[in-house]
Parts: sequence; structure tokens; C-alpha cells
Amino acid sequence: MRYSGFQVIKQALTGHKGWAPAWRDLEPQPHYDIVIIGGGGHGLATAYYLAKEFGQKKIAVIEKGWIGGGNVGRNTTIIRSNYLLDGNEPFYEFSLKLWEGLEQDFNYNAMVSQRGILNLIHSDAQRDAFTRRGNAMILNGADAEMLTTAQIKERYPFLNTNDARFPIKGGLAQHRGGTVRHDAVAWGYARGGDSRGVDIIQNCEVTGFKIENGKCLGVETTKGFIGATKVGCAVAGSSSRLMSKAEMRLPMESHVLQAFVSEGLKPVLPGVITFGAGHFYCSQSDKGGLVFGGDIDGYNSYAQRGNLPVVEDVCEGGMAILPAIGRARLLRMWGGIMDMSMDGSPIIDRTHIEGLYFNGGWCYGGFKATPASGFAFAHLLAKDAPHETATAYRFNRFETGHMIDEKGMGNQPNLH
Ligand SMILES: Cc1cc2nc3c(=O)[nH]c(=O)nc-3n(C[C@H](O)[C@H](O)[C@H](O)COP(=O)(O)OP(=O)(O)OC[C@H]3O[C@@H](n4cnc5c(N)ncnc54)[C@H](O)[C@@H]3O)c2cc1C
Repeated sequence: MRYSGFQVIKQALTGHKGWAPAWRDLEPQPHYDIVIIGGGGHGLATAYYLAKEFGQKKIAVIEKGWIGGGNVGRNTTIIRSNYLLDGNEPFYEFSLKLWEGLEQDFNYNAMVSQRGILNLIHSDAQRDAFTRRGNAMILNGADAEMLTTAQIKERYPFLNTNDARFPIKGGLAQHRGGTVRHDAVAWGYARGGDSRGVDIIQNCEVTGFKIENGKCLGVETTKGFIGATKVGCAVAGSSSRLMSKAEMRLPMESHVLQAFVSEGLKPVLPGVITFGAGHFYCSQSDKGGLVFGGDIDGYNSYAQRGNLPVVEDVCEGGMAILPAIGRARLLRMWGGIMDMSMDGSPIIDRTHIEGLYFNGGWCYGGFKATPASGFAFAHLLAKDAPHETATAYRFNRFETGHMIDEKGMGNQPNLH
């Protein structure tokens, strides 16, 4: 069923009885050409592009819970391509371009809103660094503009530009950045994949791999063995746990990241802002809630909930630039498990096991990457060659020393 304004009117006039389920509820078949493990944004996008762009058939997505229950439905919804390094910027810009046409492409309203993102500057040194970043973005075909404090004040009157502990000295704006309704991305890709024959199997956990003579023959699951010619793993925060079942030890740690939403307020923030003297980012949802977050909790965890010291730290960051936030009540908060890699950048690569492919290490920036990650992983699975924007995301960069250390933090996953 194609969604359209006409359909909405037609269904409204006929008691909404004609809507078809967005995807089928299926039991697994004994064998698939390609099995994707993980029904998050990346797994579902991979299946969608495999079917749509690369003409692949007999594809299944195996999800241990329900689709959208992982990080794809837990993040703070920010999309952007304001990266510095050559290994990253073309990939994230490719992703932003895919976001721009996504809703028409998969015929689903994911509320893609290019309301802009602004990185605040609080020192002269930071201005130099952000100018360099802006230039790198422009060289890679992205948009970037340096704003003065006066320009920021005009657009964001509720920011403290008068007597802040860390004065706002300008900002790096990417006007094409913004927000997307996160769980709708999972639903849109699921619906688009399903309509092209992808089997989406929920409540089915992969418990192991069948590997013989260095070749992956399929996966053991809570619904029995599923054979596969190729297996792609896209399980985000569960990457190390899953890949350990194939006896692989990943250059990765799992950490919890929290998100917060305030009660609904009148419009105060037209776009996304990030604090440059601490870690705090905030946007306002269409329902009026301030959606914000900060650092990861800083210890290894598989729990989808965080701790109070980080709540305090994040709220301090908010108060430092947006004092009015202190009057708002917190409505909801939750946590997600981040697959923090050693250099803060992802991996989209084959493993040493034939037929077993890996996608992970997205740290806390993988939502914006969803379309490009799905496209690049589908490219790798279909053609056995990396997509041109993802050539740097290989396992062997940790052997050869070609890190993509965007933040310059070294091999400290808790700092990326
Ligand atoms: C609080 C928070 C805020 C964030 N904010 C942003 C942001 O603003 N912008 C941004 O770009 N990124 C953000 N991120 C990061 C982003 O959400 C993730 O990097 C991205 O969603 C990860 O990819 P995914 O969607 O495929 O993950 P997930 O949705 O987690 O998908 C992985 C799936 O694999 C399933 N799975 C795990 N193990 C198995 C198994 N054994 N068998 C079967 N299925 C399995 C899980 O149940 C899960 O559904 C944030 C993350 C969090 C938690």
C-alpha cells in the first residue's frame, strides 16, 4: 500500500479499516541468501538497500526483541555531517544526502527536519578549530557557516550570551543538519524492505554461528537454525557479545549513553545546539519537549539505563548556556548501549570468516549514519567490495595504525 494524502482522506472517510499492516509477522525459513542480524536502523536499512539498490533476494532481518527497540529508537535524533577527517566526512555527507530524499524514497513520514545544527564556540582556539572543520566540510561538498555572537543571539534568544561562565563567542552552523523522528526510521525501512520481500523476524535472538572450515553456514537462533550464504551483523551495542560467539574479540567496548526529554514548552530552540565547553546538546521536538543529552556514563555496561552523576553533569551543561532550562521539568529519560570503538569511528568490513560480515562501532553517532551505513553495508554484502565512501572503515586500520580519530583522544573508548 502506498501512503499518500489521498489515502489518508480515503481511510478517514471509511473508518480507517483499510490500512494494511506495515510489515508482515513471519517465522524464519530454513535458508536465506543473506541474513542480517539486528533489526535496528542499520540492519533494516541494509536489508532495504540490498533489495532495492542491489537486486538481492531471499533476505531476512533477525531481531531479538522488537524492531526499533534498540538505539535507533533511543537516540536524541540529531543528523549532521560536520566531520573533519577525510575518512569520515564524505561518508557522513553521503548519509545526509540520503536523509534528504529518504521519505520520498521509502514512502514514509520520518519527520526529517533540516532545522540546522549549531556548535557553539567559547574560546579563540576553538574558533580556529571550528573554522578548520568548516573548511574541511566545504571541501567535501557539505555546507558550513561561521556565525557571530550577534547572529546567534538573533536566532537563539534564550541562549545566555550576556554573562555566561563560558561566553559564547560564535558558532559553526550546518544549516542542512537537523533532526529525524528516530523510531519512524526503523519503521520506514522495515516497511520498505518488507514490501520488497525482506523477511523481518522479531523476537528471535541469534545465539551462535555455524562455522565450518572457516566458512559461516548460518546462525543458531531461539527459533532454530537458519542457514545463510552470507551473514551480516549489525547489532550496535551488542557487537562484542555477538561476535564473541564467532570467537572474535573486537576493538570495542560497550557503554551506556542517556537521553532526556523535558515537559512540552512553547518554541524556544529553532534548531539543534551543542555546548562547546562541556558536553551538552539539545533540540526541541515537534511536541515541544527539549530533547537533550551529554557524555556517556563512562564505564562498561550492557544495561539500557544510566546513573545520576551523569544526569547532574548533563543538566549543568544545559544550565551553563541555557539557564531557562532550569525551570523545565524532566519528563522522561532512558539509556542505550553504545558500541564504542577504539578510535571513535565505525567498522564496515568482512571478517576473516568467509561469509561473515560486520557493521558496528558507531559510538554515539550512528543514527545520522543510518542511511549511508545501510547503503555501504549492502554494497559490501552484494559486491564483496567496500562502498567508495566507506573504504577507511576496515578492521585492519587498528593493525596498520590508520586510525580515524576524529576527536584526537587516542584509544580511549570512554572519551570518544
Ligand atoms: C541516548 C542516545 C542518544 C544518541 N543520540 C544520537 C544522535 O543524536 N545522533 C546520532 O547520530 N546518533 C545518536 N546515537 C547513536 C545511535 O542511536 C546508534 O549509533 C545507532 O542507532 C546504532 O545502530 P542501530 O540503529 O542499528 O542500533 P540498534 O537500534 O541498537 O540495533 C541493534 C539491534 O540488534 C539487536 N540485537 C542485539 N543482539 C542481537 C542478537 N544476538 N540477535 C538478534 N538481534 C540482536 C538489538 O535488539 C537491536 O534492536 C545515540 C544513542 C543513544 C543511546
